[in-house]
Amino acid sequence: MNSLYEHSTLASLMAGNFDGTITLKELLSHGSYGLGTFTGLDGEVVILGNEVYQATSSGKVNHITDMDTMLPFASVHFPKNEKELDLTDVDFSTVNKDIVNEFQLSNVFGFLKLSGVFKKMHTRIAPKQEKPYPSLLKVAQNQPEFEYSNIKGTLIGYYAPQIFDSVTAAGWHLHFISEDRLIAGHILEFKADELKGGLEVFDTLEQHFPVNNEEFRATEVEMDNLREGIAQSEGSQNK
Ligand SMILES: [Zn+2]
Repeated sequence: MNSLYEHSTLASLMAGNFDGTITLKELLSHGSYGLGTFTGLDGEVVILGNEVYQATSSGKVNHITDMDTMLPFASVHFPKNEKELDLTDVDFSTVNKDIVNEFQLSNVFGFLKLSGVFKKMHTRIAPKQEKPYPSLLKVAQNQPEFEYSNIKGTLIGYYAPQIFDSVTAAGWHLHFISEDRLIAGHILEFKADELKGGLEVFDTLEQHFPVNNEEFRATEVEMDNLREGIAQSEGSQNK
């Protein structure tokens, strides 16, 4: 069994529940690689082999070692069965079409890790919010974007089937971190001549809920515009 562990839901984050509901310590007991965000939607989190990095909206990257730091939303896993990848001419269409088709991802969760020189890297970083929190869609309409060229680093992220859109983001959700760990963010677009890495398909999803969080329990999810909002919040290249 290889499982993907998810804490809370994207629907809850969309509703503006940005208070942290799991500690890094607890999260890392469920996986050594992953993505997420911190309390207040404070940046984009990249977890690489138990090392935790936070891209902040100023563009600065922090190495987080305080295991009491809280996250409202995160996905992690322990690598178990990665298939090697060696790709040329890579961009979102490669991962959206070629990788999804080759590894038959449509109905399963997957993890992708690719390293190399990125000719183009276009990211966004969620800016920290204060209470009362706005919706994720509101935040997404005004967030700093960054563009880099010829930058060496690693992309990691998860693929979720369409039927899970709103539990998490359907399609690919990818974060980037540079090799020197000075640049990171949520990927909107990228391009590379050659990337190497691995892909893992999960046979189990472990969905954890913040049951002791009153806001989470009391949130009335508005289903009508939820998926449209997610598409706008998580980046149009994602589909
Ligand atoms: Zn992200």
